[in-house]
Amino acid sequence: MYHIDTTCIHAGYEPGNGEPRVVPIVQSTTFKYATSEEMGKLFDLEADGFFYTRLANPTLDAVEKKIAALEGGVGAMLTSSGQAATMMSVLNICHAGQHVICSTAVYGGTFNLFYKTLQELGIEFTFVDPGITAEELDTKFQENTRCVFVETLSNPSLVVTDLELFAGAAHRHGVPLIVDNTFPTPINCRPFEFGADIVTHSTTKYMDGHAVQLGGVIVDSGNFDWKNGKFPEFTEPDESYHGVVYAERFGKAAYITKARTHLMRDIGAQASPNNAFLLNLGLETLALRMERHCSNALKVAQFLENNEKTAWVNYPGLESSPYHALAQKYMPNGTCGVVSFGVKGGRAAAEKFMAGLKLATIATHVADLRTCVLHPASSTHRQMNDEQLKEAGVTPDLIRLSVGIENPEDIISDLSQALERI
Ligand code: PLP
Repeated sequence: MYHIDTTCIHAGYEPGNGEPRVVPIVQSTTFKYATSEEMGKLFDLEADGFFYTRLANPTLDAVEKKIAALEGGVGAMLTSSGQAATMMSVLNICHAGQHVICSTAVYGGTFNLFYKTLQELGIEFTFVDPGITAEELDTKFQENTRCVFVETLSNPSLVVTDLELFAGAAHRHGVPLIVDNTFPTPINCRPFEFGADIVTHSTTKYMDGHAVQLGGVIVDSGNFDWKNGKFPEFTEPDESYHGVVYAERFGKAAYITKARTHLMRDIGAQASPNNAFLLNLGLETLALRMERHCSNALKVAQFLENNEKTAWVNYPGLESSPYHALAQKYMPNGTCGVVSFGVKGGRAAAEKFMAGLKLATIATHVADLRTCVLHPASSTHRQMNDEQLKEAGVTPDLIRLSVGIENPEDIISDLSQALERI
């Protein structure tokens, strides 16, 4: 086992003699076999191999293995976006008439997907405050609860979730904990080490880091006991896939195999080989970039905290943060590059500040190597009413600053001149 920065570079792909040194882009939807019998074995999951890119592709496979290694899981599945990963992570174990518990401190798109689309499809959701006590959380479980969903470090409210508390409750009720680990990445937090069973990411963010590809991933820890009597989809034959019994045939990789053979087959939200190639380039420098994002963000947060034009600053790396202690526990080496803050004068002052920025660009994005800034209440979270915004920890004056990896002095002087213009 190598250190994580070495894993970023080398895991997932070992070229043989005369093969490309770099993970190649296999831009082909189909793969050739000499006999129908050989092809049939692949369909029956009796042999490993590729036959159609909607299900698997060599470029994707290498990147999936790398991300599984980074998170410490048994397998991973790339998806066409983070949204697709979130959706499939839940749909893999939950259908109409069943129930999910979700933290309110989640990305706005996740909230929309759950609150609107999945509820319209008949899945019931209970949203809980991330600061809930274990006893209170226990009361939210129902007979038909199938999983608990949280974000390690929420976008954009930067709430650090107490993973052990949520994992403990989920396991007491015989269901898995799914964790969206997009913001810290496995460089700063590996949720499986704190009891999470499934991890998801928007790879569009730090994993790529250059803002060149949209993608997602689901990673399976292999630790959840799908044979505990609550999940017949793993212990009874899947008639739509040749009667396979996932927990019997695939053991620890049951969840991630079913995600592919069932959901990716049916939904088809597959990543493209070209995007997987770009994602891999990003992953190679992930450890280096996260270190710089975090050290820059801490400097920026300290600068903002001491500036008279700001009303408040939220960065879990700051000692003043209510999440500092949880951040120290779950992400002792750093959290992420995102800092949120409010300027005195509310919404109008926030807009003036943003218009005055020169180096930082206004973009609907975070986790890019270029510093960028966004006003969530008028963009990513605009579908929420004031009550929902409050529950998600997004105030109308909140500015989300995604600190890049430029020289920190240049970032701070840009912020400084824009603050002076307010
Ligand atoms: N999860 C988190 C924490 C996010 O920040 C995002 C996007 O911002 C998503 C999921 C959705 O990812 P994507 O935009 O790749 O669909």
